[in-house]
Amino acid sequence: MTIENIKNAIRNIPDYPKKGIQFKDITTAIKQPETFKEIIDLFVKHYQGKQIDYVVGIESRGFIFASVLAYHLNCGFVPIRKSGKLPADVIAQEYQLEYGTDKIEIHTDALNKGDRVVIIDDLLATGGTTLAAAELVNKTGATISGFAFMIELKDINARKKLEKYAPVLSLIEY
Ligand code: AMP
Repeated sequence: MTIENIKNAIRNIPDYPKKGIQFKDITTAIKQPETFKEIIDLFVKHYQGKQIDYVVGIESRGFIFASVLAYHLNCGFVPIRKSGKLPADVIAQEYQLEYGTDKIEIHTDALNKGDRVVIIDDLLATGGTTLAAAELVNKTGATISGFAFMIELKDINARKKLEKYAPVLSLIEY
């Protein structure tokens, strides 16, 4: 299977959730067993042997890839969730949206100094969500070894901001 095959399986929804947004719907890709497997295999191949301790997934579509990747790398899965969802003590980080702000959280004891982590989400757009996630991981004292995305929206060039922290892997570019 080629990258082009995976790209063809992604459905574009114009003007969702609001006018002007080209929403990349990954559900049509991950429902195909061979496509889902290929996506995971590409992530695994990239991080295998790189001494990753935890895969940190960003709610909610990041979870789809993070837990399977953690399984294959023999490491743990750590969730970053929207505000108010995690039950124990949390560290929180606010970030800017187009209108207003949002907040994500990680359990205070989820990671420790010296842990090496990969942060993963389905799609990189402005990078606001991932930068907030990076801030959270930094506050725990853990080390970010990489950022991974199924899709990167190239024109926005959020990659430049993330590369100040760690290398960025994206499988598909638009
Ligand atoms: P950002 O913080 O701007 O990088 O946005 C990343 C988050 O918003 C990811 O969790 C994506 O799931 C979602 N997102 C942003 N833009 C799109 C898009 N065009 N299609 C699908 N999801 C998107």
